[in-house]
Parts: sequence; C-alpha cells; structure tokens
Amino acid sequence: MNQNPTILSCRGREILDSRGNPTVLAIITLQDGTTASAAVPSGASTGIYEAHERRDGDPKRYNGRGVLNAVADIQQRIEPALTGIRADDQKAIDDILCRLDGTKNKSHLGANATLAVSLATAHAAAAHHRLPLYRYLGKGHPFCLPVPMMNVLNGGAHASNNVEIQEFMIVPVGANSFTDALRMGAEIYHTLGRILKKNGFSTAVGDEGGFAPNLASDEQALDLLCEAIQKAGYTTEQVKLALDAAASEWMPENSDFSTYHLPKRNEKMSPSELISYWNNLANRYPLISLEDGLDQRNFDQWHTLTKELGSQMMLVGDDLFVTNTERLREGIAKGAGNTILIKPNQIGTLSETLEVIKLAQSAGYGTILSHRSGETEDTTIADLAVATGSRFIKSGAPCRSERVAKYNRLLAIEAELGENADFGSR
Ligand code: PGA
Ligand code: ZN
Repeated sequence: MNQNPTILSCRGREILDSRGNPTVLAIITLQDGTTASAAVPSGASTGIYEAHERRDGDPKRYNGRGVLNAVADIQQRIEPALTGIRADDQKAIDDILCRLDGTKNKSHLGANATLAVSLATAHAAAAHHRLPLYRYLGKGHPFCLPVPMMNVLNGGAHASNNVEIQEFMIVPVGANSFTDALRMGAEIYHTLGRILKKNGFSTAVGDEGGFAPNLASDEQALDLLCEAIQKAGYTTEQVKLALDAAASEWMPENSDFSTYHLPKRNEKMSPSELISYWNNLANRYPLISLEDGLDQRNFDQWHTLTKELGSQMMLVGDDLFVTNTERLREGIAKGAGNTILIKPNQIGTLSETLEVIKLAQSAGYGTILSHRSGETEDTTIADLAVATGSRFIKSGAPCRSERVAKYNRLLAIEAELGENADFGSR
C-alpha cells in the first residue's frame, strides 16, 4: 500500500438533512486508499453575517433548495486544485479552498461545499495516521469531555408552537462524567415528557428533538423544566438551565434597532426592556447561559447586557459572532458577550473554525461547539469539542438520531480515554 497521504480524488453528493432538505456530503480518497466523508448541516435561524449556503434555486427540485451546483463544483473546480496535496496539511487545503472561492463569505463555491471538503480531508488525514479525529486535531490540548447543553423544549423558528424563545436547555453541571451527564439529561427529558402529558400538553417534538407544546408564557417553560429536574431526582444546583433566545429573529430587517417584535405573541420591547426581562429571568431561575439575547447587529446593546449579567452567566454570541474571527475581534474590543458558539458551517473551513476558537480562548471567552437545527449523521463536532478543550456542546435533546449521534460519539470517546478523560464541569 502506498503510504502517501496525498489526495487522489474529491467528490460530492447531494444527500438529505434531518428536515428533509438537501445538503452536501464530500468524499475524499487518498493515494494510500483511505476514504473518508463528511456532511454539513443547515440552520433555520441563520445569522446575516454567516458564510453563504449555496442552493440551486431551481424551483423544480426540492423547492429551490437543491445543492447540485455546489456538488458539481466539488468535482469540477475543487478536485483539480486539491489532487496531489497532502491531506494532513489542513492549512494548505483550506487556503486553497478560500483562494478558489475568492470571496469574503464563500459566496462563490458555497460554505456548504468548502466545509464538506475541509472536514472530509481532516477525517481522511486522521484515518491515514490511524488516529481518532479528536486525537489527530487535539495536539497540545488535554482531552476534556464537554458538558451537554440539551435543548429539551423548542420554540421560535424551530417549532410551530406559541413559544418565543427558541431553545430551553438543561445543563447537568453536577455530573461526574459525560456519560453521567447524558443519563441525567435523558432522565429529565423523559420526566418532562410525562409532566407535559399529564397536564394535557403536546409531546410532539421540534427540529432539535425537544418538546414543542403551546404554553401560557415562556416562563412556564422554565417552571416546567425546574419541575422536571426535581421530579427526576435532581436539584437545580446539579442541573442548570440555559436559553437561546435567537433574538435576531425578533428584530425586523432594516429597522433602527429600537424595537424588538416577538412575533408569536405579537409583543414589542425596547432593548432596555429586553435586557430587564433577561435580568429578571436570571434572578428567578437557575440560568447559567443566555445565547443571542439581543440582536446580531448591535454590539452596544450587547455591551450593556454583558456589564449587567456577564459576571454571573455565559452570554453567548451565535448570530453575533458567526464563528468569524473579525466579528469576534470586534466583540472582544467592545466587551460584548463572554462566550462564542462554534458552528463550522457559519465560516466554511476547519482551519478558520480552529482559528476563531484559539482567538476566543486566548481572550478568555468560552467556546461551545454546536450542531444546526438541520443536521445529519455526521459527528465531527463531538471530536472538535474534545480536540479544542471546549467545555460545552449543544446537540439538541437526547432524542432523534441526528442529535444523539453526537452524544453517542462522545460516549465512545470517553470510554476510549478511560481514566484520562477530564469533564468540562470539573
Ligand atoms: P439554527 O439554530 O441552526 O436554526 O441556526 C441553532 C441556534 O440558533 O443555535
Ligand atoms: Zn443560537
């Protein structure tokens, strides 16, 4: 067998994500015969600063959401540029992808095409070196399993109920290991299901596997979560709560940032009223994290929120930072937030993803690896969380295989590391 890790071929395929929409899978084959693939996810509450997700726009296929052009370019434009390059020179691979694309937001090739190729290359290189991906990428980091932030109640753009906040998460910080944390989360999830059923609420689930009932208020969701934690036999010291408001969805486009409009309940709030609302919830509930509590365009509002709540909880920028070093640098300079959500498809290559994680960690910002609401069976984010020493991961409820696949991958990594595995909340 040829021991050379150079790239022999690079192909793409149009596959389906968990919502039944097309997405891109890339397959890399090396000269030594190693083959590896990676598939990219897709968001619903997509930030305006994210890299471009390329779709065909042909109304006759998948309502315009096909990705055949992105896939065709993987073979026609990307393959000739990568053939003969070493798969274990990730920086060289990703530089070529960025140069070939030639735009700031991957609008030419599409971040769905570049990320699929970038991740498949890393998988191929790791397989060539006979290392699991987290070990191959994790040089220099002590291996630490992330605490799962499990989205057990869905609202906003992820559910057709009347709940405004997009995600209500349980975070088992009192667990001793990832394996323990996952069990606690699953027990609470099932307890929550029983409570909802008993009270006549729907137990249908949203895009990320959490229940999606109609409720009297968003606070009722927090009350139900606290009840489920206690009825499952835990305390709110052991299991904390986290929210993703996805508040950019509440700011009308082309507005002057003066009014948030919560669409389902048709309520309006000024930025300072919204900040008071978060303050009030933080005082009443065991919240350890608030993501996208404010709009993605306004670092000043974020600075005010961070001054008020930043010492007591994680204030996470998702749409605000979009896994982008330039956006994060601006946020650090302006004192906006203290944690960044990491979604590789917001930026479009692995190297750029690792670079923003490094910047965040050197500035004292936390990093949370994250899935998207439209997912696949790809589990790369689990390995990335461990490789980068990120203390938290978001992969939805302990329900629906595309969510659970990441958690199951983390169980496997923890078992493999044995005694050497550290855990994020320790
Ligand atoms: P999205 O939502 O994948 O639909 O963008 C996830 C999130 O906002 O964290
Ligand atoms: Zn988010």
